[in-house]
Amino acid sequence: MKATLIESHGGLDRLLYQEVALPQIGPTDVLVETKTCGLNHLDLFVRKGELPVPIPLPRILGLEVTGIVTQVGSRVNEFREGDRVAALCRVGCEKCEYCLRNQENLCLKSRSLGMTLDGGYAEFVSVPSKNLVRIPECLSFLEVSGAPLSGLTAWHMLMSRAALRPKESVLIMAGGSSIGSFAIQIAKALGCRVFTTVGRDEKIEKAYRLGADFVIQRKKQNVLQEIRQLTEKRGVDLVFEHVGQATWDQSIDCLSRNGRIVTCGAFTGSEVSLDLWKLFSKQISIIGSYYGTNQELHDLFQFMEEQKVFTIIDSVFPLNASREAQAVLENEQHFGKVVLEVH
Ligand SMILES: [Zn+2]
Repeated sequence: MKATLIESHGGLDRLLYQEVALPQIGPTDVLVETKTCGLNHLDLFVRKGELPVPIPLPRILGLEVTGIVTQVGSRVNEFREGDRVAALCRVGCEKCEYCLRNQENLCLKSRSLGMTLDGGYAEFVSVPSKNLVRIPECLSFLEVSGAPLSGLTAWHMLMSRAALRPKESVLIMAGGSSIGSFAIQIAKALGCRVFTTVGRDEKIEKAYRLGADFVIQRKKQNVLQEIRQLTEKRGVDLVFEHVGQATWDQSIDCLSRNGRIVTCGAFTGSEVSLDLWKLFSKQISIIGSYYGTNQELHDLFQFMEEQKVFTIIDSVFPLNASREAQAVLENEQHFGKVVLEVH
């Protein structure tokens, strides 16, 4: 089969499009013919070798897989050939207290497609059957292509961790990112008042079209001043953070009394300062959030079906153009998901 892999860490030229052996499946695995593989910032970190975990090389990249079941292991009963599926990238150990509680996102020994296991920049990928979720018939592969990682992470943050409620006000950082575009749609469908930030003029209109009530151009406007003005100095109930160091202080300052901030990422840096006076005097809650669970991906698909929430596609590339696709992500030109369409 064809696949794009890395043999060493570094720039875009390390992405090699090659013929490789078809993956072997074990008794509880499923061989999935890849339809789409969504790109994520994590792919860039894996390629550059900038993650705290060592990446065994060579490695086929790609964490966000959808496709069709083509072969099932001898002990797999829940899936059969032809099923349309999406794969959760994190593979739990099935033994630790978190896995046994169906919180496999917190597994201490988890492995991940596209990082410590081969991923979806390939025509076929081997996935444990417990990591698969059926895609509803009425949703296309492209429509769900950003759901298994970006969408699921946003869903877990808003619904499970922050328990967002209708009519609350929420500030979604970087609304043009794939996770941000999911968060805007989910929050809007819930009936919230949605503020978001973008870094380029051409993204303003797109964010409004997604349902944002107010879009702030962060390079031309002061985000804190705008939020204070738009909320009559009150601030927002929830800030949806995934940017990190560059925006943290401002995100805290945008909160109302009893406000909460939920964060899942830190691609601009993870070291931040915290003024405890602000934390206790405003009764702020800081909530960490990490990926999501199999059940939540089921729930997200149902929500997407009912509420007409879809992956916002920025651009689609063939498997042999992963360098071009990653360059789009690296240059932050995109609005929504950059996708490899494999079959
Ligand atoms: Zn575990």
